Amino acid sequence: MTRTLTSKPPSRFKLAERILELSFAQTWDEAKREWELDHIYFADPWSPGTCLCGHSPIVEQCELFNSLTGETVTVGNHCVARFLDLRSEGLFRAIRRVAADHERRLSVAAAEFAWKKGWLTEWDRIFCVSLHRGRKRTRSLSPRQAEIMVRINKTILRHVGHS
Ligand SMILES: [Zn+2]
Repeated sequence: MTRTLTSKPPSRFKLAERILELSFAQTWDEAKREWELDHIYFADPWSPGTCLCGHSPIVEQCELFNSLTGETVTVGNHCVARFLDLRSEGLFRAIRRVAADHERRLSVAAAEFAWKKGWLTEWDRIFCVSLHRGRKRTRSLSPRQAEIMVRINKTILRHVGHS
C-alpha cells in the first residue's frame, strides 16, 4: 500500500503518519479533512496527555473524531492549529478569556460549539450570540446579564476541565 505525503516537515511527520494510519483516505491532504473536533479540554495536571505526534505533556487537548473509520485521537491544540485546519485555537482562546474573567462575553464560536456538545441550552446559545449583536456588543452587561454570563462560562469551564 503506497501512502503519499505531499509535504512533510519533520515535526509534522509522526502526526501525519498516525493520522493516515487511522484514516480512510491515503493522502495527508484528504485524510486530514476526515477529522472533526469532537471535544476540547484542559489536561488534569496530574496526568497530562500525549499528543499523537509524541509530544508530552500537553495541557490543551483536543479529541478528534473520524466518522469514516470511527477512530478517536488526542492531539494537542498546538498541533491541531498548525496542521489540521480545525478551529481549536479560537475555542481555547475564548475559554482562556472567560476563565480569566467570568463576566466576559463568551465568543459566538465557543457558544455554538458548547451548544452542539449539549453543554448549553438553546436559550443559553441565543443569549451568548445576542450579546455580540448590534449595540449590545459595546454596552456593558446589566447585573442580570452578568449573572447569566457567569453561569454559562462556569458551565463551559467545568466541561473542559478548567479549574
Ligand atoms: Zn503534537
